[in-house]
Amino acid sequence: MQLLKMELRGFKSFADKTTLTFDKGITAIVGPNGSGKSNISDAVRWVMGEQNVRQLRGQKSEDIIFAGTQTRRPQGAAEVSLYFDNSDHALDTEFTEVVVTRRLFRSGDSEYYINRRPCRLKDIHILFADTGIGQDSMAVIGQNRVDRILNSKPEERRVIFEEVAGISRFKGRKADGLRKIAETERNLERIRDLMSVLE
Ligand code: ATP
Repeated sequence: MQLLKMELRGFKSFADKTTLTFDKGITAIVGPNGSGKSNISDAVRWVMGEQNVRQLRGQKSEDIIFAGTQTRRPQGAAEVSLYFDNSDHALDTEFTEVVVTRRLFRSGDSEYYINRRPCRLKDIHILFADTGIGQDSMAVIGQNRVDRILNSKPEERRVIFEEVAGISRFKGRKADGLRKIAETERNLERIRDLMSVLE
């Protein structure tokens, strides 16, 4: 699976629709200080579901929407799409190209899409779980994250290994399963109570 292309519109410094294509091999993004290089990696993390705007170097979620300049009006929404080549079906879907989109309006409304179809953030998490490019993966390593990993506790480091080893997807499913069992137990309890009243 390869990231083929990225489209940004209204995201941070990218006011207009901007398309970046990634060839095979290494792509280096170079430019003067403050020209928007880190905004590109912020955009990748944002689409993959980053919910903590501080991780994207903002204070409030609106900060990721183009705020305008002296000559340009602010944008009403930010939208970023990532295009993945899925011809190897590393992502569990029949599509050979997968487009993941996130859109945020100034009103605070947020939308997610997989191949232009509205979806939940959870669907994106499920699709990318254990592929190495999920939200908490090592695919995007910010300048401060290296220090954090080196200084992290063994339990925190274990979560990283679990994601890389492909275990976290099953842990998530197990947690869902246990929640459903607990809910069923509660329902059974209620039914038993009702039956004892009726008897
Ligand atoms: P450096 O090389 O110094 O790390 P960089 O190329 O990585 O810089 P970024 O940090 O990606 O640059 O971009 C910073 C620029 O993005 C600043 O000029 C800032 O004004 C602009 N910017 C950030 N958020 C917004 C926003 N919401 N609207 C408009 N511009 C924004």
